[in-house]
Amino acid sequence: MVKGEAVAFRCRGCAGENVVPVVDLGAQPCADYFPAADAPGPDPRWPLELWLCRDCTLVQLGPVEAQVAEEPLAVESATSRAHAETSVKEILGDYPELSGGTVFEFGSPHGGSWLDHLYAADCRLAGDGETANLVVDVHGIVHEPQYGDSLQLRAERLAPGGLLVMEFHHLLPLFVGNQFDTIRHGHWAYVSLRALRNVAALHGLAVESVRQVDMFGGSLMVMLRHAADAKPDASIAVLLEDEDAAGIADEVQLGSLQEAAWHAAGALHDELARHKAAGRTVLGYGAPSKAPVLLDLSRVTTDLLPFTVDMAPGKHGRRIPGGCLVPIRPIAELKAARPDVVLVLTWDIADEVIAQLESDGGWGTSYLVPLPEPHERERREAR
Ligand SMILES: [Zn+2]
Repeated sequence: MVKGEAVAFRCRGCAGENVVPVVDLGAQPCADYFPAADAPGPDPRWPLELWLCRDCTLVQLGPVEAQVAEEPLAVESATSRAHAETSVKEILGDYPELSGGTVFEFGSPHGGSWLDHLYAADCRLAGDGETANLVVDVHGIVHEPQYGDSLQLRAERLAPGGLLVMEFHHLLPLFVGNQFDTIRHGHWAYVSLRALRNVAALHGLAVESVRQVDMFGGSLMVMLRHAADAKPDASIAVLLEDEDAAGIADEVQLGSLQEAAWHAAGALHDELARHKAAGRTVLGYGAPSKAPVLLDLSRVTTDLLPFTVDMAPGKHGRRIPGGCLVPIRPIAELKAARPDVVLVLTWDIADEVIAQLESDGGWGTSYLVPLPEPHERERREAR
């Protein structure tokens, strides 16, 4: 290499050089760095871009690597806890031979661990360097900058004949549902079944089966094995067809997400401004890592959203990072303020949020969900 020459950006999945930028969300702060409520800013920002690999089709963050704070352990939602328990039951029901076997889990900062439920089924944690009959990764791998290398580590942990289960937020609902606020520093890959299948093949793994699960706005649970052991079922072709129809491996199609994001953000700003002009109060629910990019693109500040609330005590007395400066308070303060409108920033668990706030009869507030375009949610829709 000539001295001073830029190092080519290589795909985080296949290490190829055929990677192109498709979506630019501007300079954004680190989503998990929550400054003190009175910290004036500005918070540090880095370019937030999606790139597409034309070879393996992996969608990923671009070459500029932000300095990412360690994710604080947010309080796990009831939805997530129940999902872990149900998932383990389903997997052990479909693959009874795994009960009582060895397991290994690649953990995630979002929680959702399967281990306690697996121990309850007499599974045993694989020791140092030991391979496992069941290897689990629930929303873990996207936190690894090098997707391909990390998949190799999972392959190495998998015993011959064993099952690798990976659950992750799916690129298809992200794209179709305009979930642009799930794009963030520290989440390096935005994965389709096709991309996972392509990268897995480079590491001797094959997809055996896939199912869609209703987590984080739409996730996939994918079952993989060493290529020689895998017996692919019909679920794979169906889902690949859906992905192809949506064009999520096409750079022009993917690029349209940028315009959709700015459109929804503008609409959210207008909606909040309309409420304010009509004398209606709006407060937020949730301080998820999705909130900074949503509020930043929407140019929402405390003028339109005086504060938000969150379950996690560690976030109280802090604020959303970026330009909005919206402080985070305990949930009791939302109930005491009885706003006319609650903006549900944790839209992926809107049912849980509405059920919780309506459990004692509520106060007749309406619920505003920001995506795919801002819309009001009926209280009775929640169960
Ligand atoms: Zn690639």
